[in-house]
Amino acid sequence: MLNMNNDQPNILLVEDEQNLHEALKLNLELEGYEVTSAYDGSEALRKIESAYFDLIIMDIMLPDVDGISITENVRVHNNEVPILILSAKNSASDRILGLKKGADDYLTKPFNLEELLLRVAKLITKNKKIQVKESVGDIYHFGDNKIDFKSLEAINFNGTTIGLSKKEAMLLKLLVENKNEVVTREKILQVVWGYNVYPTTRTIDNFILSFRKYFESDSRNPRYFHSVRGMGYKYTE
Ligand code: CA
Repeated sequence: MLNMNNDQPNILLVEDEQNLHEALKLNLELEGYEVTSAYDGSEALRKIESAYFDLIIMDIMLPDVDGISITENVRVHNNEVPILILSAKNSASDRILGLKKGADDYLTKPFNLEELLLRVAKLITKNKKIQVKESVGDIYHFGDNKIDFKSLEAINFNGTTIGLSKKEAMLLKLLVENKNEVVTREKILQVVWGYNVYPTTRTIDNFILSFRKYFESDSRNPRYFHSVRGMGYKYTE
């Protein structure tokens, strides 16, 4: 299920009730979303680990791991994916607990389909806006290094010209645009790889190692390119 079409937002639908699940999936697909299904909590956790989603629609009462615990787990791993909780529970305390554990929105069953679709669209748009940072120009200087994002060429502190791959340039740009901030693995995968199947963490690590070789005078004590264990990667100046 390799999805190379990056224009369609990907939604993970976590719902164990078969009929509701299928009806929701169909309606979301009609709205132009790519939908991945999970029918229980452990399946949901596995899918969250292995792919990027623009949104998770999460039922609370599931056969094994409940939706609140999954939400908590997602946030512990610093995954910023928007989560819309769907639940039969409608007491204020459940709603508050869900939001406290990191859900972004909450709908109580039975819900109005149109309202669900509106909230889904809103959460996805809001998330995309947050991810767009101030853009750097085509040429970027740091230390004695110079990157030309347009020609995919860099000149480093030694005066060596380095040809960059498209992905290298994209990752460099993403890191530079988020200077001094940790960029999560999820964000990198979404922006640079842009489809719903992840390369391994090692793949990103290898890119970072290359950047150090290209641009750091002492690649063992990096000044610019940092891995932040369990969180992501950071460019500092
Ligand atoms: Ca359920």
